[in-house]
Amino acid sequence: NSLSRQLSSSARTMAPISKETDYLVIGGGSGGLASARMASGKFGTKAMIIEGARLGGTCVNVGCVPKKVTFNAAAIAEALHEAKAYGFSVEETKPFDWTTFKHKRDAYVKRLNGIYERNLNNDKVEYVRGWARLTGSNEVTVALDEADEAGSKEATIRAKKILVAVGGRPSDPPAIPGAEHGINSDGFFEIESQPKKVAIVGAGYIAVEFAGMFNALGTETHLFIRGKTFLRSFDPLIQDTVTDNYDKLGVHVHRESQLTRVDKDAATGKLTLHYGDGQTVGDVDHLIWAIGRTPLTKDIGLEAAGVQLTDKGFIVADKFQNTSVDGIYALGDVTGPVELTPVAIAAGRKLAHRLFGGAEFAELHQDYTNIPSVVFAHPEVGSIGLTEPQAIAQYGKDNIKVYKTNFTAMYYAMMDPDDKRPTAYKLITAGKEEKVVGLHIAGLGSGEMLQGFGVAIKMGATKKDFDSCVAIHPTSAEELVTLK
Ligand code: NDP
Repeated sequence: NSLSRQLSSSARTMAPISKETDYLVIGGGSGGLASARMASGKFGTKAMIIEGARLGGTCVNVGCVPKKVTFNAAAIAEALHEAKAYGFSVEETKPFDWTTFKHKRDAYVKRLNGIYERNLNNDKVEYVRGWARLTGSNEVTVALDEADEAGSKEATIRAKKILVAVGGRPSDPPAIPGAEHGINSDGFFEIESQPKKVAIVGAGYIAVEFAGMFNALGTETHLFIRGKTFLRSFDPLIQDTVTDNYDKLGVHVHRESQLTRVDKDAATGKLTLHYGDGQTVGDVDHLIWAIGRTPLTKDIGLEAAGVQLTDKGFIVADKFQNTSVDGIYALGDVTGPVELTPVAIAAGRKLAHRLFGGAEFAELHQDYTNIPSVVFAHPEVGSIGLTEPQAIAQYGKDNIKVYKTNFTAMYYAMMDPDDKRPTAYKLITAGKEEKVVGLHIAGLGSGEMLQGFGVAIKMGATKKDFDSCVAIHPTSAEELVTLK
């Protein structure tokens, strides 16, 4: 017994925490991990990362990764249905086993958490579990998850340079009665069994992706949007194509609708949503608020350190990721401009090069223009560069040219009209040389398709360059090099 007590207490003892480091990163999400690993692994900088939750941040734990796995499940559900049109006799009677799938998805995320920790070890980044607070421009105090070797649950660490990469969280719902009965995108990943009926409020990436996945997996889905279309920051072609397709797919899109009250039945737990002029939707298992994200800049000592915030609470950072305080840097969702994992990773790696890589990287910084992004909607959406309204505003209507096409992908040729899905592409060029300044695609495979076109656009491709590339037939992508 005493031996096992000794063993378990020694297993609990943490390695001594350094009192000083050269690069201290607050936040073990995509951006922070990438920057700390680059600083230590490539440049040999003494680096430390402080994270109180699971490693990997939003993307790995409650974002991109478990979302994409769920999207894959939804795509398989669709393919099973579509297989019949190709002559397969598929029994769709066995329902999708949400609970088994969910536990496998959790296990995959847990595996990734472990891989992230091993990667930190490999790159010799010191990993401290706890919550950090800036107590000066070169100092943080950490509330440790477990007591250190001296039995203290708090550590003060001095650092030459500090990176704040703490990310964001789902925004709070509006103050309507019963709003608290809803969950947010974090809660989505905790749903244990398949809901019969859900409602989602929001019109951005998250709301649209969730609604499409639920619907494809067989849950009755209600989507409440304030406007006539969703994805309103995207090109109008994308908004119209995808919003209309959601109607066709059977998603109940409640346009120009806002919830006014949510009631919860104490006995069944079911929700009744009130909206508009006394309309209701009842028997709802889950209401999900997906109305944007809020930076996690409260209570981490930013004000004490003198770090300037925007009126929306984002950290003000210049193109070099400098904050208003010398030696404190910020990147990723906590800074706002483009809330995407690969953007934070790229910015984090570039910052590590600039700070620790020597004179040749002194000017290296992330370029925030022409960043491709994909919405895993139904159909998938890909977008890079300017929308048509933005291109008109920037270049003038007479100086841009717009190429558009709508068609049904060959994949759907074998299917009944009701099962055919849309494809819509738009290419926007500017000036006499017809430089491509915007590309917007919705349709099967758009997610994979955009990456390559993104390279061309980032290199400054013109319409002529697109046209000079021989089409690959039969694909959907070929339409982009044959636009008239
Ligand atoms: P978004 O900022 O994309 O969209 C939120 C939208 O919800 C708003 O644009 C607004 O649209 C609507 N909205 C805001 N307030 C309310 C309200 N009170 N009632 C009803 N609707 C409201 O936020 P998300 O939460 O969807 O996503 C956050 C970010 O995460 C995204 O911007 C994206 O960068 C990232 N992300 C990326 C993904 C990807 O790359 N595939 C996937 C998921 C997230 P409107 O004005 O039309 O009402």
